[in-house]
Amino acid sequence: MQWLDVRSDTVTQPTPAMREAMFHAVVGDDVYGDDPTVSELETLAAAMLGKEAALFVPTGNFGNQLSLLTHCQRGDEVILGDDCHIVWHETGGAAVIAGVQLRTVASDRGVMDPAEIARRIRVGSDIHWPKTGLICVENAHSSGRVVPLAVMAETAAIARRHGVPVHLDGARVFNAAVHLGCDVKDITRHADTVMCCLSKGLASPVGSILAGSAGFIARARRNRKLMGGGMRQAGVIAAPGIVALREMTGRLAEDHANARALAERLAAIDGISLNLDDVHINMVWFALAPSIKVDGLMAALAAAGIKANPPEDGLMRIVTHWQVNAADVARIADVIAAYVTGGQ
Ligand SMILES: *Cc1c(COP(=O)(O)O)cnc(C)c1O
Repeated sequence: MQWLDVRSDTVTQPTPAMREAMFHAVVGDDVYGDDPTVSELETLAAAMLGKEAALFVPTGNFGNQLSLLTHCQRGDEVILGDDCHIVWHETGGAAVIAGVQLRTVASDRGVMDPAEIARRIRVGSDIHWPKTGLICVENAHSSGRVVPLAVMAETAAIARRHGVPVHLDGARVFNAAVHLGCDVKDITRHADTVMCCLSKGLASPVGSILAGSAGFIARARRNRKLMGGGMRQAGVIAAPGIVALREMTGRLAEDHANARALAERLAAIDGISLNLDDVHINMVWFALAPSIKVDGLMAALAAAGIKANPPEDGLMRIVTHWQVNAADVARIADVIAAYVTGGQ
């Protein structure tokens, strides 16, 4: 059976153009700086993200941790949202790798009050205090919410006033740009460094980008080696990354439209609660009425060839991507509607 997999945009398979590019990739030893395909990807990514230089890294998690390690000294404090990926989903790596202290700010799915960030910046030279080494923001947030540009601009202004750098966890920054109707550079200019995943909605099989100033990236290149991320003939996995940036960034609006169509169908079903205003990118979140049996719904979806994750903390998430089309989302809505309204 051909599964329709809507658990995440990380499940995306490489496109035929990506497989072709991998097959034909010219490669060399990238630790020697000899891989022309990796270099091409890094140059392209830097230009698209509006930074001087970029570095190809194995994962988004790696890129974020490499950024913390390169920006900070051990014992520095990093100010970031209490619901961000670095706090929740990176295995406590900040304590192990960069050796930094994470100072959280209340965050509503990525949106933090800039005044609360300002309050946490260490000003003065009290010998008791850690140094504020970095501020991290996330856009789009992993909840699928896009942070408004005004909030990012205000945060960047506060950071600059205090001489503190800003790192953007932009795992889905191209999705954020589509939602905001702006160029991705209009988002990244509010951060000194940015991490962006090639392997989510952009469908590359492996890899992420860390971009920043030339000096920062030179230091990050050395730290990437320290972390075990010096990859040899990496052109075979960089080649699909080039296709991801060239061809896949321009089609993300389709995924957003499909997510929107699915959300509108689901919102109309009795027994499902869904806030349409929260559908910003390719993710649809909804809650099921307590009377609906989750096991039964999951079985109905599986029987229809649909792979979905069960609800977590009462919320179910469906994610669209290039392998999900308008007919597919209509079918998902039909299966859910039939189960929820069909007396189970
Ligand atoms: C997925 C994700 C990451 C990590 O990316 P991996 O490639 O899975 O390691 C980091 N930040 C955010 C916001 C993400 O959604």
